[in-house]
Amino acid sequence: MSKKIYERPILRKVVEGIPNKFGTIKKLNPISTIDNVPIDGIIKKYGSPVFILSEKTIRETYRMAYRAFSTRYPKVQFAWSYKTNYLDAVCRIFHEEGAWAEVVSGFEYEKVLDNNIPGNKIIFNGPDKSEKDLIRAINNKSLIHIDHFDELYTIIGLIDELKERPQVAIRVNMDTGIYPQWDRFGFNYENGSAWNAVNRILSTGKIDLVGLHIHIGTYITMSEAYATAIEKLAALANKIFDRFQTSIGYIDAGGGFASQNTLQGAYMPATDTTPSFDDYAHAITTAMTAASFPNNEKPTLILETGRALIDDAGWLAGSVLANKRLADGRRAMIIDTGVNLMFTAFWYDHEIYPVQETTFQSEPTTIYGPLCMNIDVIRKNIDFPMLNKGDHFVIKRVGAYTMTQWMQFITYRPNIVLIDEQGEVHLIRKAEDKEVFRRQELVPKHLK
Ligand SMILES: *Cc1c(COP(=O)(O)O)cnc(C)c1O
Repeated sequence: MSKKIYERPILRKVVEGIPNKFGTIKKLNPISTIDNVPIDGIIKKYGSPVFILSEKTIRETYRMAYRAFSTRYPKVQFAWSYKTNYLDAVCRIFHEEGAWAEVVSGFEYEKVLDNNIPGNKIIFNGPDKSEKDLIRAINNKSLIHIDHFDELYTIIGLIDELKERPQVAIRVNMDTGIYPQWDRFGFNYENGSAWNAVNRILSTGKIDLVGLHIHIGTYITMSEAYATAIEKLAALANKIFDRFQTSIGYIDAGGGFASQNTLQGAYMPATDTTPSFDDYAHAITTAMTAASFPNNEKPTLILETGRALIDDAGWLAGSVLANKRLADGRRAMIIDTGVNLMFTAFWYDHEIYPVQETTFQSEPTTIYGPLCMNIDVIRKNIDFPMLNKGDHFVIKRVGAYTMTQWMQFITYRPNIVLIDEQGEVHLIRKAEDKEVFRRQELVPKHLK
C-alpha cells in the first residue's frame, strides 16, 4: 500500500451564501496522462511548457460532427478552417478524414497547396485577397467567396487574363438574431447589397456563381440562428433562379459552433450548456430540408466549423514557477504559460488540473503567467490545490486559435507534439530558438 499524503489541518472561514466545504466537494482530480501517455514524460522530453495534441480526439470529434450532419442530410462537405489551427499535421488529419480546406489569406492558401489539396477543394474567404492570390486561386479552380464590391471589380478586371472561369460565391451577412451582428464581412442581405452583388456577377456572363456563404459569428450557442440564415439564403437562391435561371450548387453555413470551454462570467459550465453537434445539425438540416430550392434540387451543405472540432484535442502542459501572497493575503500561483500562448484566457475560464496527486485542500487562487504584464492572468479566481515550484499542471481544451494567435513576447514559442493513435509522441512543431530570430533580423552596417 502506498503511503497516504499528509494532510495539514486548516481552519477555513465559512462565507455565507457561497458554497463551502459543507456544500460541495472541491477536490480537483489530477490529470496525469493524455491518451495513456504520461504528461510528466512528455515535459521531460520536450520541455516545459509544451502543447500536446491528440490525433485520436481530432479524428473522433470530426467523425462525430460528420455523422451528425451526414445522417440528416444527403450532401454534406466539411472544410477545415485553417486559421483555427494550421499546423500541417493537424490539417492533414482533417484532410485524411475528408475535409476540404477553408482559408482566409494567401499565406494559408500556400499552406493548403503544401498539404497537396487540389485547388477545387479550397474555399477562399476573407477581405484580403491580392490580385496575385486571386489569379492563382481562380486558375486552380478554387471557390472564391467574395467579400466586397472592390474584390468583385478586381475579379472582373482580371477576367481576360484568366485561364479558367471564376467559380465564386458571395458571403452574405444578415440579421439572424445574433448581436452584435457581424456586418463587416460580405454583403448585407436586408439592404439589398447581396442581391446587387449577384446581379453584378451574373450580368458579366463570365463568372460562375456556384454558392452562397454565411459565417454569422463565433461561439454561437443559439443553433436556431443558423436556421434563420438558411431560410434567407434559400430565398435568395430562388430569386437568383427566377432572374437568371442559375441554380447555386451549395450553401456554406460557415463555422461558429461553440466549444465546451466556459466563457468568463457564464453561470453554468459550458459542458452543460453548449449545443451538441446533433443540436446544430438538427437546426441546420431541418432548415435545409424545409426550404424549397430551384428545380427541387438540394444544394450541397458545406460546413466550416473550426473551434468545435479542435478545441478538445489540444492541451497545454507546464510547470509552476512560484507561489506568493498578494497584498490582501490571497494566494497567487505563477506558471510558465501566459497569455502569450493562451490568448483565449482573456475570455475563457480554462480548466486547469494538477498532473500529480495533491492534498485534499484547496484555496481560492489567482493564476498568473510569466510575462511582465499585469494583464497576464490565466485564471482570476479558481479554487486550486497547493502546487509547489516545479510541479506540473495541464490546461484542457486549448486546440483552437492558441497555436495560430499566439504571440512571441519575451520568450520563445514552445514545442508542439502530437500523440498518434498508437500512443506514439511526435514533434510536429519545433520550439523557437535564437537562430529563428537571427535569421529574421538585420543589423545596419553602422551598428555592427
Ligand atoms: C474563422 C472562420 C471559421 C471558423 O470559425 P469557428 O468559430 O472557429 O468555427 C469559418 N469560416 C470563416 C469564414 C471564418 O472566418
